[in-house]
Amino acid sequence: MDRSDNFQRRGLMFILSSPSGTGKTTIARRLLEEDAEISLSVSATTRPMRPGEIDAKDYYFVTQGEFDRMVADDEFYEWAEVFGHSYGTPKAHIRAGLKEGRDYLFDIDWQGTQQLYQKDQQDVVRVFLLPPSIDELRRRLTGRGTDSAAVIQARMDRARAEISHWDGYDYVVINDDIDLCFEKVQQILEAERMRRQRQTGLIGFVRGLMG
Ligand code: ADP
Ligand code: 5GP
Repeated sequence: MDRSDNFQRRGLMFILSSPSGTGKTTIARRLLEEDAEISLSVSATTRPMRPGEIDAKDYYFVTQGEFDRMVADDEFYEWAEVFGHSYGTPKAHIRAGLKEGRDYLFDIDWQGTQQLYQKDQQDVVRVFLLPPSIDELRRRLTGRGTDSAAVIQARMDRARAEISHWDGYDYVVINDDIDLCFEKVQQILEAERMRRQRQTGLIGFVRGLMG
């Protein structure tokens, strides 16, 4: 993107959450493809690598011992056990990137969002996507073709619980038309980048303007 306002700035942590099936993955992928300044946060995990996965791209694959040491040394923004393995968001890489003006995308649920926000309120922007209706959510989950009827029902039940956390977010966007929704998400990101306190290069610029 050609930016006329490309002063030095601090990056931000852009959180996208939604009830499963709403379209979060679709929006996230598109954002990563079209916006060169944002990259996906890479988690650490103790689970074995799956075929095709790349260390330090899909995850940082670590031993349980290394993971435990990182927890003890407070090296995670947040961590959790999922399906018997440990997963966490390491701070070091992100902290360094934020300083250089890189933005990070987080595809996490409301609990992870709360933890991240508690650790770093200034850098976090929380966006929640909602489906236009419950019927449409069911249609999307069915249409995706990745889950059995039982799994779809379980996701529908969980979706109601997830929707109830809508008020823990800074922005709420309804994903009715995908292009419109994507545009709105892009606009939120652009506006947040222009927040005065993130534009660390502004002081020098304004001094120059004032002679
Ligand atoms: P999530 O990551 O929130 O679980 P996905 O991005 O996998 O959801 O989307 C679920 C399904 O709905 C996918 O098949 C996707 O192509 C479709 N989808 C996403 N957004 C829309 C939309 N605005 N209109 C219609 N279908 C959509
Ligand atoms: P998978 O092993 O299939 O890649 O991921 C399993 C689950 O772990 C997913 O639900 C994913 O959202 C979750 N997960 C991945 N990384 C993290 C992380 O850094 N923190 C937390 N809390 N969960 C994660």
